[in-house]
Amino acid sequence: MRKKNFFAGPSVLPVEVLETLREQIADYEGQGLSMIEASHRGGMFEEMYDECLLKFRKLLNIPDEYDVYFLGGGATLQFTMIPMNFLLDGRSADYIRTGSWSNKAADDAAKLGNVNVIFDGKDGAYSRIPKIDELKINKDACYVYLCSNETIGGIEWQKFPDTGDVPLIADMSSDILSRPVDVKKFAMIYGGVQKNLGPAGATFIIMRKDMLERRNSNLTAYMDYALHSKNKGLYNTPPVFSIWAVKLVLDWVEKNGGAEGMLERAVKKSNLIYDVIDSSQFYRSPVEKESRSRMNVVFRLPNEDLEKKFVEESKKEGMLGLKGHRSVGGLRASLYNALPYEDVVALRDFMISFEKSNG
Ligand SMILES: *Cc1c(COP(=O)(O)O)cnc(C)c1O
Repeated sequence: MRKKNFFAGPSVLPVEVLETLREQIADYEGQGLSMIEASHRGGMFEEMYDECLLKFRKLLNIPDEYDVYFLGGGATLQFTMIPMNFLLDGRSADYIRTGSWSNKAADDAAKLGNVNVIFDGKDGAYSRIPKIDELKINKDACYVYLCSNETIGGIEWQKFPDTGDVPLIADMSSDILSRPVDVKKFAMIYGGVQKNLGPAGATFIIMRKDMLERRNSNLTAYMDYALHSKNKGLYNTPPVFSIWAVKLVLDWVEKNGGAEGMLERAVKKSNLIYDVIDSSQFYRSPVEKESRSRMNVVFRLPNEDLEKKFVEESKKEGMLGLKGHRSVGGLRASLYNALPYEDVVALRDFMISFEKSNG
């Protein structure tokens, strides 16, 4: 029996996708060759890759004036590439600090140039997303940076700021394709695929083409987005296995209602858990209600001993990954797209019975 997988990343994949990978691992679509032993130049890889990019465009409604491709290095490499390319000498970039991931990005950028922090959730223990009218965007900023869903803190932007002529850049690693997004609001959207789109390895890049004109062009090859744009991510060897699996996950998303369908699933699943939290004195959410993430539901119990017991007993019920991130403690249920609804029902029922015997 498959475990109920609440890991934050790498994380649950649709079982159909895993089965297709198993069936085709030695012989891709009857071509007598595995996808992972074929050249990435031409032939069956590029055909699959082009289909993958096209499907990603379609599912997210990405306009033609944007480049779409995959790179290696994880989302973390982008913390460096973004300021290297766009944080120009003598200018500054606006960063919004909402938790672990945007903090890491801001810290890296600050080593390369001038960072202007326009919001820092530190005083509130990173428990909320700023209100749009709290943000004073610097008109001369090279860009504004945010993280759409803080995977560790469990907070998510519900509505994005309008930054006018200042390019808006977002790390959407952990909520990509969990809802429709108005891509035109952003100059760049990127993220690791290992939360909602596939196995670890690839990083998706969605970038408005005119951003290349704003970049610092004096960079080494791999660091330069223009080179990747020109080669649609195939300048060097791409993470082929990860990309192949992403293609299959996108097929699955399409079959299950696209971005709208994913939003519906996410609302239904996260409500199951938030409803238990809200109707109990035993469970407590450390985050502001309006900022709650639909992907990563964090919660606390009355004390750490009970939290430990919760994790141990949930494991016995076949539920994995419910321990909160080591940096913040508590509990966290990650409810990514591929997690079946029934698994969230099982968690809800477990929470109710755990409260009964320990509350
Ligand atoms: C997981 C995660 C990252 C880091 O991704 P890597 O691929 O491990 O570098 C960055 N940002 C967010 C929001 C994440 O959830």
